[in-house]
Amino acid sequence: MSLQMRSECERCDTALEENGIAFICSYECTFCATCAGTMDHTCPNCGGELVARPRRSREGA
Ligand SMILES: [Zn+2]
Ligand SMILES: [Zn+2]
Repeated sequence: MSLQMRSECERCDTALEENGIAFICSYECTFCATCAGTMDHTCPNCGGELVARPRRSREGA
């Protein structure tokens, strides 16, 4: 079993594009940029810091 990548913000259910901006905490709670900002980049579930999810880039590195 592998972890499923969430495709919606846990807070507002906004759809998150795979290559769009999303914020996750260390436990992979997932939020949109708007909610992350509203919550001061702190996860309401576990209190962890929300960081921008790295995007898959085809531009090397
Ligand atoms: Zn949201
Ligand atoms: Zn969390």
